[in-house]
Amino acid sequence: MTARFYIVGNWKMNQKLEDINNFFKDLGDLGNERQYEAWLAPQAIHLTTLLEKANALNIQIGSQNISDNDSGAHTGEISPSSLIDAGGSFTLIGHSERRSIYKESNDFINRKTLLSLEKGLTVIFCCGETLEEREKGMTESVVAYQIEEGLKDIPSNLREKVIVAYEPVWAIGTGKTASPEQAEEVHLFIRSKLTELWDGTLSHKVPLLYGGSVKPANVEGLLIKPNIDGALVGGASLKGADFRALCDAADKRSKLPGQLQG
Ligand code: PEP
Repeated sequence: MTARFYIVGNWKMNQKLEDINNFFKDLGDLGNERQYEAWLAPQAIHLTTLLEKANALNIQIGSQNISDNDSGAHTGEISPSSLIDAGGSFTLIGHSERRSIYKESNDFINRKTLLSLEKGLTVIFCCGETLEEREKGMTESVVAYQIEEGLKDIPSNLREKVIVAYEPVWAIGTGKTASPEQAEEVHLFIRSKLTELWDGTLSHKVPLLYGGSVKPANVEGLLIKPNIDGALVGGASLKGADFRALCDAADKRSKLPGQLQG
């Protein structure tokens, strides 16, 4: 993975057609000389709605969820190959809403991850602790277990297509963001975990995104940390002007020293 900065919008089950049109109107042109990536994960039903506009702006499109099967009798699921056919290049996997509401296990998440990578998608693998787990001092053990189980058995040639998003559950959609120091501490831990599981050269290139109430007002403080390579953003990615401000912060950060090299 070429390491630059990433702003990834997770639209969740939001954005009607009119909202999407307004989003692009407000977003404007992001320019071509970018050293950061701007990606969007709309509702699956709107993947192709967005595609032309996103392509024109060099924004990659992906899905919020994916199947652990590529075809067949799996009503309601999204096939990795069909996502690629539709113009998608990445998928989120293991988002805390999938883990908690839809009871996705680490094993299921691992199967989705392996299949998605094998089919050619980039995987944004989400992990993070609940408030109760943090208060019990379990943040590292929870994140370590999610990574060990969710990212196990990935062949070495596919590891470069993995991005890890640290999303503390207590910060998602709550307005309570982790402080840059709290996020950096866990990112550093994730990097050491990846070094232990894979190898140091690669683990230093894996982009680590922070997610949890990121907004234009706090993004700069997060991106300045050496192990925070971008943001996975829900609420503040819905409006074109906000997404633009997040992208502008990534653009500014990408021009400063200290970014990872691919
Ligand atoms: C998310 O859903 O991945 C997320 C981080 O949401 P929010 O930015 O709204 O907290």
